[in-house]
Amino acid sequence: MSAPTTPQVTEPAGAGRFAPSPSGDLHVGNLRTALLAWLFARSTGRGFLVRMEDLDRVRPGAAARQLADLAALGLDWDGPVVQQSARTDRYAQAIDSLTDRGLTYPCFCTRREIQQAASAPHPDPTRPGADGAYPGTCRALTAAQVEQRRAAGRPGALRLRAQVDRWTVPDLLVGPFTGAVDDLVLRRNDGVAAYNLAVVVDDAAQGIDQVVRGDDLLTSAPRQAYLAALLDRPPVQYAHVPLALNQEGQRLAKRDGAVTLAELAAAGVPAGRVLGLIAGSLGLAAPGEQVSPAQLLTRFDPAALPRAPWVVRPADLLA
Ligand code: GLU
Repeated sequence: MSAPTTPQVTEPAGAGRFAPSPSGDLHVGNLRTALLAWLFARSTGRGFLVRMEDLDRVRPGAAARQLADLAALGLDWDGPVVQQSARTDRYAQAIDSLTDRGLTYPCFCTRREIQQAASAPHPDPTRPGADGAYPGTCRALTAAQVEQRRAAGRPGALRLRAQVDRWTVPDLLVGPFTGAVDDLVLRRNDGVAAYNLAVVVDDAAQGIDQVVRGDDLLTSAPRQAYLAALLDRPPVQYAHVPLALNQEGQRLAKRDGAVTLAELAAAGVPAGRVLGLIAGSLGLAAPGEQVSPAQLLTRFDPAALPRAPWVVRPADLLA
């Protein structure tokens, strides 16, 4: 008879992720964020997952091209790619659990009404209108008022009845970040789960404990972390990375020239060279150096990452 073995308790390694919206081709700024997410995850022994955030604006063929671009740079991911559009039941369950606890309410405001209320000269001081926060207009509607709006055919969204107005998240690059939490939308007025809800539900369900993404989403992190806490999901470690900008200081976009792998390939710049350029922008490669993601992994040091945006000159990409 063999001796009883002691069950080995190993800490799950956790996972990082890249979660693009398949609304078009990735540009070099998006690819840089993907590389960083991969480096943060792989350098800490984490898995790396890809999730298609396809609840909104899907362009046919874009998801497959985005995955092909990641592969062309040499980035690998674990397991199947998750599609948010296939996960509506999970979102509904999470929303129902909040509703059962009295933590949701229907909202009939239009975008315009919200903007007007938030910019009113004397907004309700108990509900901050700063940081694009919802001013709480529908929070105290009576059942009769809700019925009246429904009868008038106004489509309603469902909002969180937030119990706090600030939340602090840990961020590896930014430090502790405190930002506004408002009565964020959980279900849009077209019945589809809202971005913030879906991200929180999916990150937890996929075992993701490290979220690396563009710093345009930094102000969403307190809302998401608060929602995760309410839903009893584990907190995640954030790293919000600087975005790529054009020479005018605006977010890099397709109109800025040849900025996608397909466009650059057509201009004679292969994917390997694009990886070198992106690595160079991160201080991880010398100009013109041929590098592989595995090599970059040995050089990666989060503390040494540039903290300023990457200003992209199309001529530099083509050089
Ligand atoms: N799908 C979002 C985007 O492409 C990213 C969401 C996230 O990383 O949390 O901007």
